Amino acid sequence: MAERHRIEGFKREGLLPIISLSEFGRGGRSTVDWVVTVYPFHWVPAGGARHASTDARPDGALAYPSGTGVRVLCGQELVADNSELAWLWGTCTDCHAAARRIADC
Ligand SMILES: [Zn+2]
Repeated sequence: MAERHRIEGFKREGLLPIISLSEFGRGGRSTVDWVVTVYPFHWVPAGGARHASTDARPDGALAYPSGTGVRVLCGQELVADNSELAWLWGTCTDCHAAARRIADC
């Protein structure tokens, strides 16, 4: 009951977009950032593509710092590259599929 009222308050004030699963994966960075807060994986540019990982990030970090070793959902061990250019890399299709499976649970 309280939770429902709180969500309605957010909608009315426009503080938080209520995201639907159909919006996931369009590639908008703000959309991805919001999904990251909801589902137990994070997007990480590494090895020339944007992968997803369930590895924990350093406390308070919005992304894995460059040089962080991460195990990504498609099974590779990669080193994160948090540069602006790296975020423009294409999404790894295997990680995208794995992330969709997590998000659809
Ligand atoms: Zn991947």
